[in-house]
Amino acid sequence: MTKFVFVTGGVVSSLGKGIASASLAAILESRGLKVTLIKLDPYLNVDPGTMSPFQHGEVFVTNDGAETDLDLGHYERFIETRMKKANNFTTGQIYKSVLEKERRGDYLGKTVQVIPHVTNEIQDFIKRGADFGTPEAVDVAIVEIGGTVGDIESLPFLEAVRQLSLRLGPNQAAFVHLTYVPWIAAAGELKTKPTQHTVQKLREIGIQPDALLCRADRYIPDDEREKISLFTNVAQWGVISMPDVDTIYKVPRVLHEQGLDGLICDKLRLNTPPANLKRWDDLVFETEHPKGDVAIAMVGKYVELSDSYKSLNEALRHAGMKNHVHVNISYIDSETLSPDNVAQLAKFDAILVPGGFGVRGVEGKICAARFARENKIPYLGICLGMQVATIEFARHVAGLKDANSTEFAPDCPNPVIALITEWKDADGSIKLRNEDSDLGGTMRLGAQSSDVVKGTLAHKIYGNVVTERHRHRFEANVNYLETLRQAGLVISALTQREHLTEIVELPQDVHPWFIGVQFHPEFKSTPWAGHPLFNAFIRAALDQQIATTPEKALA
Ligand code: GLN
Repeated sequence: MTKFVFVTGGVVSSLGKGIASASLAAILESRGLKVTLIKLDPYLNVDPGTMSPFQHGEVFVTNDGAETDLDLGHYERFIETRMKKANNFTTGQIYKSVLEKERRGDYLGKTVQVIPHVTNEIQDFIKRGADFGTPEAVDVAIVEIGGTVGDIESLPFLEAVRQLSLRLGPNQAAFVHLTYVPWIAAAGELKTKPTQHTVQKLREIGIQPDALLCRADRYIPDDEREKISLFTNVAQWGVISMPDVDTIYKVPRVLHEQGLDGLICDKLRLNTPPANLKRWDDLVFETEHPKGDVAIAMVGKYVELSDSYKSLNEALRHAGMKNHVHVNISYIDSETLSPDNVAQLAKFDAILVPGGFGVRGVEGKICAARFARENKIPYLGICLGMQVATIEFARHVAGLKDANSTEFAPDCPNPVIALITEWKDADGSIKLRNEDSDLGGTMRLGAQSSDVVKGTLAHKIYGNVVTERHRHRFEANVNYLETLRQAGLVISALTQREHLTEIVELPQDVHPWFIGVQFHPEFKSTPWAGHPLFNAFIRAALDQQIATTPEKALA
C-alpha cells in the first residue's frame, strides 16, 4: 500500500520546497524504499508549456513528452524513479478534466462543486501519479503542493490532501510544512511568529504537520525550537532546521542528521534499513575539491533569470564534477552580441548556445556560432543552438546568403530550418505556413531515438543510438541537407522513424569540437553519471584551455 508525504509551504515562496521534497525522497530511497514525487501547481494554465521562461523558469520535459514544472528536474536529479506526465498537474488540468466529465454527463445531473468534485478529482490525480493500487505502485509518494498556505488558489489542494489522508486511515500519510524563520538583524534575533501563524492557518484547515522544516540563514537554536514546538503542536524533534547551504547536495545530509527520515518512517510505520548517504557525501566532496576551472560562455536570451536554464546549469556542473573542474558560466545576452563585439568570446574555453524561441537575439547567436567555428573554439548548440549553427553554416560556408529559419523569416528564400509542413515536398516547393496550429499541439516532445553515423564525433560520444528528449517545432529542412553536406557539414544522426536531423557537426579535422543537437540532453543529466555529451563538452573546453593557456591549465 502506497504511503504519502504531503509537503506544504508557508510564509513566503521560493524557500526551496522542491529541493526539500526531493531531498526527503532521496533519503527514503537510500533506505531501500521505492519512492516517487508529485508536484501540484495551483495555477490555471493547463501546463507550463506556454508560460514565459522569464516568469516561470525552465519548462522541464519528461520522457513521455510532458511539459512540466522545473521542480520535476530536481526530482529526476535526486532520485532514481523517472518522472511521467502524471507526476505534475495543475489546477487547470483538474478543472479541464472535471468540465469534460460534466459535459459528458458523468455527474448524472448533480450540481458540480469544488467540494466534492474538484477535491475528488485532485485525489484521483494524486493516486494516479503514485500508480496507487497498480503493480507499479511506489512505497512512498511525496506530494509537493505549490504555493503558500493561505493562498486562495491552493485551498482545494489542501482540502483534497486532508481528505485523502483521512480516507487512507491512520499512519498512511504524513505532513511536512516548510516555513521561514527570519533573522532580524536590528534585534539580533530569529523570529518565530511567522511560523506560528502559518501553522495556525494550516491547522484551521484541519492539517496538523508532523514536521516543520524551518528555513533560516542558520540553524535554529534549541530554545527557539522548543518555542516553535509549543506554539505549533509539533513535537520538538519534528522542528527541523533547514539552514542556507552552499550546494543543494548538502540538503539530504542536513535533514537526515536531524532525523527527518526517521520521523517519517516512524509515522508511516515503515521498517527499513538505515539511510546511506555516501553518494551524497562523495558528491559534496567532489564539488568542494575541483582541480581547476573552465570558463563557458552561454549565449542566450533568458539570461536575467538563471532558473530559465536550470537543467542546463546543473548538467554543466555535473560534467564539471566528472572532469574534476569547476565550471564558471558567463551568461551573455545574445541581443547585445554583434560582429563588432563578438571577439569578447575569445577569452572563453567553450561556447554554448542553448534552446530558445522567437526572433529576438537570434542574430547574436548566429554570430556566436560563426565565431566558434572560425576560431576553433568548442561549440555546443542545443535545439535552437543547433538551428543557428546550421543557418550560420549555410550562410557563410554553403553560399546560401539569405538562409534562415521560417520561425524568424517566414518568407525567406532559403529556409534551411522550417516546419515539416513547410518542407514536406520532395521537389522543394514550399507549402503555406501552418497558421492554424494549436499552441502546444505541434511540438515534437519527449524521448525519441536516432541512429548515429559511425566515425563521427557524435558516435564517439553516444555510440550507435542516441535517445534524448525534444521540445521544438522547427526542423532542419531535408531539401537543403545535400547542399550542406557537400559544403562540409556532417549530419551525424537521424531519427529512426522519420529521418529528421538530430545532430550536426563539423569534421574533426576541420574543427576540434563543434556539435549541434536538435534535442535537449540537459534533461537527462544526473549528478552521479553526468551526461556523455556534457562530459565531452567540458573535456573539450579543458583541452582548449590546455592548448591556449597551458599555464592556467597546468596550475
Ligand atoms: N524555436 C525552435 C523550435 O521551435 C527551437 C526550440 C528550442 O530551442 N527548444 O524549433
